Amino acid sequence: MARRLRTIRELDVTERRVLVRVDYNVPLEGGRVVDDTRVRETLPTLQWLLERRAKVILCSHLGRPRGQVREELRLAPVAEVLERLVGRPVQYVRDIVGPDARAMAERLKPGELGLLENLRFDPREEADDPEFARALADLAERYVNDAFGAAHRAHASVVGVAKLLPSAAGLLLEREVQALERVLRSTERPFVLVLGGAKISDKIGVIENLLPRADAVLLGGGMANTFLKARGYELGRSLVETEKIGEAQRLLDLAEQRGVRVELPVDVVVAPSLDAPQERQVVPVERVPPDRAIYDIGPETVKRFSDVIRTAALLVWNGPMGVYEIEEFREGTRGVAEAVAACPGFTLVGGGDSAAALKELGLADRVGHLSTGGGATLEYLEGRELPGIAVLMEEEA
Ligand code: ADP
Ligand code: MG
Repeated sequence: MARRLRTIRELDVTERRVLVRVDYNVPLEGGRVVDDTRVRETLPTLQWLLERRAKVILCSHLGRPRGQVREELRLAPVAEVLERLVGRPVQYVRDIVGPDARAMAERLKPGELGLLENLRFDPREEADDPEFARALADLAERYVNDAFGAAHRAHASVVGVAKLLPSAAGLLLEREVQALERVLRSTERPFVLVLGGAKISDKIGVIENLLPRADAVLLGGGMANTFLKARGYELGRSLVETEKIGEAQRLLDLAEQRGVRVELPVDVVVAPSLDAPQERQVVPVERVPPDRAIYDIGPETVKRFSDVIRTAALLVWNGPMGVYEIEEFREGTRGVAEAVAACPGFTLVGGGDSAAALKELGLADRVGHLSTGGGATLEYLEGRELPGIAVLMEEEA
């Protein structure tokens, strides 16, 4: 039976208290928000609710306080940023489900906003404790989830509360699901999969799920090393997951059986260590010196990858091609990012570091969809059901 995601459009919110789970897990430095992207991304949903005169109660986690109050992880700096972005006062309380939170919820008038304290200050959040979920639900009359980045967590504010109130996906969550579903269901060809990042162990699930449908798979980043090793190359001091070489071989065999074209780096950027980027050198992959490690793909590889990327009707990219955090090892990621930006097909880029790299390169708005979830995006691409989304689905009549 077909299932569909309930969306905010189906929810009667006018003059009602609406609890909105957002992902305001923003980077902080010295008590200030250094990147407000995650707050900005929720604005369409907030605007939608405020225009309908809802009383909006926002809740989010921030960092990993592990069930304890941590002063430096309070949501106060987020409240400030939010006020500026929405252009209205935000009633922030240093409380989650206690008397101050309840008083705030009672006080809110139609078209006003409140923000609860960091959900993870309470150990019951991550335990999906039913009483905590009930207390959250008691603050409001409707529930909206717009926190895609937390949708793979079976936590009280993601799953428990959604079962207790009429609930739906916010506009951001809906957009994420639409883009990811397009990738998972689409029959557009050629379908090109570009994978990089540090480790193959993080990506096996994604490869396994998408490879059978792909026409070409391009492998770069540290994870390509384990595949290169499986093909018998000597890689000096490069990161190799020795215990995963067999797995890499199995995936290469699977690709061959399915007639999927696999491209591995033909040239690479090496250096003695990450502390000596100025000693970078480009070498053919069969000539990595024993005292060097691979930190990026080389220009010839970028050219070959770009030629394939150009032909894609559908493309998924996860994982940087090298240690993009260091300028000397960023060229491979830049080259691939530019090719993806120029690709005429539908392109989806996901993963925490992949998104960060695209932003740093100023190419974030040149891709079809930049998925905001790190772990959530990968789990979705693995074909797994995310608990926070499953709970918002209903059977189609
Ligand atoms: P994402 O967050 O997009 O899923 P990953 O977390 O899997 O991506 O990988 C990103 C990390 O991989 C970056 O920190 C980057 O420095 C690292 N990385 C990429 N290539 C290499 C390499 N050749 N050697 C070591 N680390 C690498
Ligand atoms: Mg990462």
